[in-house]
Amino acid sequence: MTRVTVLAGGVGGARFTRGLLHHLNTDARLPGAPDVTVIVNTGDDMWLDGLRICPDLDTVMYTLGGGISEEQGWGRTDESRRTSAEIAAYGRGWSWFTLGDLDLATHIVRTDLLRSGETLSAATEFLSRRWQPGATLLPMSDQFVETNVRLAADADEHTAGDLIHFEEWWVRYRASVPAAEFVQVGLADAVAAPGVIDAILNADLVILPPSNPVVSVGTILAIPGIREALRTTTARVIGVSPIIAGAAVRGMADACLATIGVETSALAVGLHYGSRRDGGLLDGWLVDETDAQAVPKLEAAGIRARAVPLWMSDVPATARIFAEAVCVAALPPIELLQAAEPEEEPAELPIAEFAFPGQLRDKLVGAILAGTKTSTTSTLVEYSVEDEPLPAVGSRQIVIDSLERPVAIIETTGVRVVRLADVDLDHARDEGEGYTSVAEWRAGHEAFWHSDDMRAYIGNSDFTVTDDTPVVLERMRVVALLHP
Ligand code: GDP
Ligand code: CA
Repeated sequence: MTRVTVLAGGVGGARFTRGLLHHLNTDARLPGAPDVTVIVNTGDDMWLDGLRICPDLDTVMYTLGGGISEEQGWGRTDESRRTSAEIAAYGRGWSWFTLGDLDLATHIVRTDLLRSGETLSAATEFLSRRWQPGATLLPMSDQFVETNVRLAADADEHTAGDLIHFEEWWVRYRASVPAAEFVQVGLADAVAAPGVIDAILNADLVILPPSNPVVSVGTILAIPGIREALRTTTARVIGVSPIIAGAAVRGMADACLATIGVETSALAVGLHYGSRRDGGLLDGWLVDETDAQAVPKLEAAGIRARAVPLWMSDVPATARIFAEAVCVAALPPIELLQAAEPEEEPAELPIAEFAFPGQLRDKLVGAILAGTKTSTTSTLVEYSVEDEPLPAVGSRQIVIDSLERPVAIIETTGVRVVRLADVDLDHARDEGEGYTSVAEWRAGHEAFWHSDDMRAYIGNSDFTVTDDTPVVLERMRVVALLHP
């Protein structure tokens, strides 16, 4: 899981990506350097005071580059506003849209590059050289596409039916003036920026972070080719709900959802994106633990769902959300689960190897044959070493002993992928190794996962598991004993 592509708006997308990078860089210790691409909404862009402003690109760049104002969620830390005050004194600019003095430098450099004929992609790459965001930032398009709001009521100098810039509706009116529709001006002439489609098609995992589904992710999806790329990529597409307990967290996304006729709930937004099985975009959708009642409805609609804490309260909490997304991505899609075929000939069955040949394997295989071992655990990364798919429920495997003789056929009766910290006592007990607590179970498994044999197998001499390491919990039953 090293190539990850994210479709992001501003604050929600930026915060999520920061946690994602934290997980990939520090916690997961997966083989290979992570390669993260963020495709950023540029529908909020504007020309203001003669400058090109890209609110979402800058929020992502400053957040990942360590320059963001944490309190605001946008703009620079240690900011002053002397230039804005001077522009206001001339009666120019948007009084309700302040550009800080430090932030203005970014807009001046970007505008300078654009005026000298560079594309927005090239200007973004140039600005990123200073900020070192740790990910490739791509604007969704190099063409200027501007989200406008058609007002459904009068407001100040505007009359119902007028189109105004999205940021005016959002910042000046705090989304309180009813909106009839969102219009993407310039869409007809827009194409995806270089690298955008490839980043989706060549990813190992695509993430729809908790960004505004209408005016952030929805805007990106409208760019020709992007929706189709999400539909056809071999990567899993996993989304994180921006709605918790029926409310938009920090923001007014509910006003946008109301305009397109989608209820403000984790369930409705998941169904709005839809299952890839049925022509939609999602393989999986994380909802907050308070929205657990949505999980069976989402799964019935063909979307793998899990309820976990979704508050991005700090970077480690956000990293945990991404770890959960990795766990959901590892599960076979719902349709594959139902299609497992238990009827193969024994000779064609894959081999299940427990530990490495020797004492430990003999003990584990003995417990399987005795029926006392009905669960087993692997780290997810072990499957990626040989690009092995996870076992599907109903699939069968041949168990071999230390001399590599076939001794039994087992059937997988359950597969879950969870964070290591979330392994439960039932699973630990059913390992059949005499564990009476999760802590004991974990100590035993850590010794194995940190062994020289395992580190050599994974090809990472520092491989170390943490609470956030995704682990595959399998349940099984013996269906036949073989006599070697
Ligand atoms: P914007 O362009 O700055 O509006 O940012 P985005 O579109 O990327 O994200 C805004 C959305 O992030 C908001 O509408 C919220 O629904 C969502 N959001 C913000 N904070 C959190 C959080 O802690 N958890 C979750 N799940 N969603 C959040
Ligand atoms: Ca935005």
